[in-house]
Amino acid sequence: MLGQSVGNVETLHVLGKIGWWGHLIMVLVFLNYLPYSKHLHILFAFPNTYFSNLAPKGKFTNMKSVEQEVKLMLDPNADPYAATSGSDVPQRFGAKDVQDLTRNQLLSAYSCTECGRCTSVCPANTTGKLLSPRKIMMDTRDRLSEVGENKLNLEDGKSLLGDYITPEELWACTSCNACVQECPVNIDPLSIIVDLRRFLVMEESKIPTELTGMLTNIENNGAPWQFSPTDRMKWTEEN
Ligand code: SF4
Ligand code: SF4
Repeated sequence: MLGQSVGNVETLHVLGKIGWWGHLIMVLVFLNYLPYSKHLHILFAFPNTYFSNLAPKGKFTNMKSVEQEVKLMLDPNADPYAATSGSDVPQRFGAKDVQDLTRNQLLSAYSCTECGRCTSVCPANTTGKLLSPRKIMMDTRDRLSEVGENKLNLEDGKSLLGDYITPEELWACTSCNACVQECPVNIDPLSIIVDLRRFLVMEESKIPTELTGMLTNIENNGAPWQFSPTDRMKWTEEN
C-alpha cells in the first residue's frame, strides 16, 4: 500500500515536471514565432496606443502651405509676405501609396487586431456602401508587406490607392470618426482615408461631381454657397 502511494507521488512529480517544462517550451516557441505571425499586433498595440492622436476627434491635420494660401484668401489682415519656407512645401499632396503615409499610420496598420468593431459602427458600411474601415487597415498592412518583400523593386507599378483601396470606398466615408472612437487600440482609419482623398482632390482633381460645385464656391466666394462675399449680409435687409 505504502509502495503504491510512493509510486503515485513519483508519477505526479513526473507529470508536474512535464507540464512545467512543456508550458515554458511552448511560450518560448510562441515568442519566436510571434514576429512572423499575425499575432504581432499584440506587441505593436502598446507603442501604437502610446503614439496615438489624443487631439479632439474631428480636428484635421492642415498642410502648412495650403493653410497659408487659405489665410491669404480669407483673412484680410494676413501677411502676404510671410511666405512658406521650402521645407513647408510638401513633395506630394495627400497619399497615394504607403510611402506617403506617416510612421504612426503604418504602425497602426500592423497593430490592427482585425476585430471589426470599427466596421460594425461605420454608418457607410451599415447602409450597404463599399467602405469598411477594417479593410482600410488590412489593405494598408498588406500593401506595406508587399512593398517590404519587393524592396529591391520599389516601382512595382502598384499603389495602395487604386490597387487596394478604390475611390468609391474613400468617398463613401462621412468622416464621422465612429471607427476611431470604437477602436480598442486607438487606430485612426479616417486619417488614411483623408490622406488618400487629399491625393485624389489635390493631385488628380478626381472629385465626385456632387462636391465640385461646393469646392468651386469655396475657392471663389470663400463659402460653399453661390453668393459673392459682399452679399452676405443682404438677408438682414429683407423684410
Ligand atoms: S469615419 Fe468614415 S470609415 Fe470611420 S466610421 Fe465614419 S464613415 Fe465609417
Ligand atoms: S476596431 Fe481597430 S483593431 Fe479592430 S479592426 Fe478596426 S482598426 Fe482594427
